Amino acid sequence: MINQALLNIVSGNFSKEDITYLLMHDDDSELFAAADRIRKQYVGDEVHIREIIEISNYCKQHCLYCGIQAQNKNVVRYRMKPDEIIERVRWSLPLGYRSVVLQSGEDEAWDDETVCRIIREIKAMDISLTLSFGEKSRETFRKYREAGADRYLLKHETSDEKLYTYLDPGMTFANRIKCQKDLKELGFQVGSGIMIGLPGQTIESIADDIMLFFSMDYDMIGISPFIPHGDTIIGASKKGDPAIVRKTVAITRIMLKDIHLPVTTAYSTLSDFEGKLEMLSSGANVIMPNITPMEYRDKYVIYPDKDSKDIEPFEYKKKLEALLKSAGRTIGTTYGHRIKK
Ligand code: SAM
Repeated sequence: MINQALLNIVSGNFSKEDITYLLMHDDDSELFAAADRIRKQYVGDEVHIREIIEISNYCKQHCLYCGIQAQNKNVVRYRMKPDEIIERVRWSLPLGYRSVVLQSGEDEAWDDETVCRIIREIKAMDISLTLSFGEKSRETFRKYREAGADRYLLKHETSDEKLYTYLDPGMTFANRIKCQKDLKELGFQVGSGIMIGLPGQTIESIADDIMLFFSMDYDMIGISPFIPHGDTIIGASKKGDPAIVRKTVAITRIMLKDIHLPVTTAYSTLSDFEGKLEMLSSGANVIMPNITPMEYRDKYVIYPDKDSKDIEPFEYKKKLEALLKSAGRTIGTTYGHRIKK
């Protein structure tokens, strides 16, 4: 049966039941081998590096799972200055990576003009730029795109609408998808993603998430375990199962073939540094090192004990290069755009 379900997703002639079966099945070796083959065939051995800078932890939203949500009074809030952000990107250029992600809580203090100036100055450094600032109006997205931003990361978190409504009070799943469609129409490469192991989430709903990945044809998909944060009201829940995360990545690689799939920081948080190799051998092809200045790192705590949070970027680079070399993988030297095949 695993062969039949696997053959169906490889051929593209699959049903939700095939995905559910693969997620529940215990013997994963054929699944991971198929995902690794398809990764090699469609996106090669290069691992794309996307450096992430967490520019502000102010957030107006109340997501039940997130440590920096508006009501958490234990968070010491910070917002980097525009020139500080630009200079941090310039500082990182000798690392040799060509792709930066700016991420923030939903911080209303940023006006479009300021963000567009930051985008223009970063793009003048000849690197690709991803933004991850949460939901915005189509008009704001349009301005970001015209200023030169290449990609936008806005995870749909879960496609179970009831669960979404419970976990993201004041937000709607419909608006999340509308934002993603606006971004696509405006010419952004769009990243989505989910958390695995959210309280109340079922295997069937993860299969629905994968069906949604396929129908929306996202360019990048981040699949993370949910990691409970002690200051949230679901902080005593169980964390997500890394084995299900790995299977979800493998199935997604087989079905979407040429997209980008990161070893998410949350996945690395639940394993040791070398644990990245498991994921890279079952479909993943992106790693997102944190280059946020050290002084802010212990304030952007969306979940506890984030992977490599105390490692300085140049030291991280050395460790990462040695690890990738040991697995016969190379570091990407391009902008890391999705190349549709
Ligand atoms: N505000 C932006 C947004 O909504 O996309 C970006 C910041 S938000 C903190 C980035 C991501 O963190 C979310 O998409 C969510 O998946 C992830 N996240 C938040 N809390 C988490 C947790 N407890 N475990 C794992 N991932 C979490």
